[in-house]
Amino acid sequence: MKDTPTTFPKPILPGSTVGIFGSGQLGRMLALVAKRLGYRVAVFSPDETSPAGSVADTEIVADYSNLAAVAEFAKGVDVVTLEFENVPVTALEAAAIYAPVRPGWQVLYTAQNRLREKTFLVKEGFPTAAFRPIRSSEELSPALRELGVPAVLKTAGFGYDGKGQRVVRTLPEAEEAFAELQEECILEQFVAFVSEVSVVGVRGADGTFTHYAVAENRHAHHILDVSVAPAEVGREVADEAVRLTHEVMNALGVVGVLCSEFFVTGEGRVLVNELAPRPHNSGHLTIEACSVSQFEAQLRAVCGLPIVPQPQRPAAMVNLLGDLWVGGEPDWAAALTEPGVTLHLYGKAEPRLGRKMGHLTAVADTVEDAAALAQNVRRRLKTHEKTRLETR
Ligand code: AMP
Repeated sequence: MKDTPTTFPKPILPGSTVGIFGSGQLGRMLALVAKRLGYRVAVFSPDETSPAGSVADTEIVADYSNLAAVAEFAKGVDVVTLEFENVPVTALEAAAIYAPVRPGWQVLYTAQNRLREKTFLVKEGFPTAAFRPIRSSEELSPALRELGVPAVLKTAGFGYDGKGQRVVRTLPEAEEAFAELQEECILEQFVAFVSEVSVVGVRGADGTFTHYAVAENRHAHHILDVSVAPAEVGREVADEAVRLTHEVMNALGVVGVLCSEFFVTGEGRVLVNELAPRPHNSGHLTIEACSVSQFEAQLRAVCGLPIVPQPQRPAAMVNLLGDLWVGGEPDWAAALTEPGVTLHLYGKAEPRLGRKMGHLTAVADTVEDAAALAQNVRRRLKTHEKTRLETR
């Protein structure tokens, strides 16, 4: 799906209005950077009291299917970008009548469905885990035979943070999982990876490309827990991950940022797991590790401003999930008094289990030191209950 890069007639300069579809923490961090650079920010999403809405200049709360509201939003902005890849294509097309939409609907159409995404990757010659589409339970038995077990059954649409996926080892297990997931699925060969890495790439409308350092990611209960960058994966693996990200962005014609997530196998193979055509949780550490973060890079790319390579200091990021609030407000003093550590909170009122409420970034001389520091501070957020800051 090649989308010939179109050049902007002229850059969309500070003072203009940037429209963002989606209003979560990614939109919030993008909005904050846009404000710093003198842009106005308009947010569109169905959610009331959202992390991005509370820092934007204007906010439209409406369903993505409300195309009149989408038109009103797009008429009021100079460019539209997104922080959430599951915005319906109809909304993107409706917005594109009034403002450039970056990245375009074709990118979203591919990335918002795992089957379409993997089919695109294979067609373009990118390495992925072997997979089969599963549209009826009859397709499970031959697929399991061909792929072997264990295998991973995932919903084709709308999955994130491991939601809508199960590891299956037998046909009855797979049938049960399919009945539960209740929609079009993809069955993937289980990859016995030695590490998971990701690359945030940046691509301008003229095809200019740059990227951040390869991050290594550790998940807990399918949710990203810790990212460190630059990953200690060896030169060949790192170069391959960057090369694949660049080629994927070219093939999709992405204008903006895209994060590719990879499995690295024991033999050093680098397999594409997933594409996210927006800033990514593993790129949050670029706020402190680089002078231009992934959020500023997205802003620059969609506005036609210069895109430049970023020297990056060793850093680690740990997520702060709602689980941390069990037993009371975390002890923010532990994070606020530690040199080299930066606290980010997304302004979400309700700390539900598994909900991303914020993150901590640590910058140090080595990634090991940064990871140890970030994890140590996160532990201490829980333990100093007596000296808690009563901030809420
Ligand atoms: P995803 O939502 O596809 O990114 O999957 C979430 C996490 O589940 C990944 O980061 C992996 O840790 C694990 N996972 C997903 N697919 C596979 C697979 N085919 N083989 C092994 N682990 C997987």
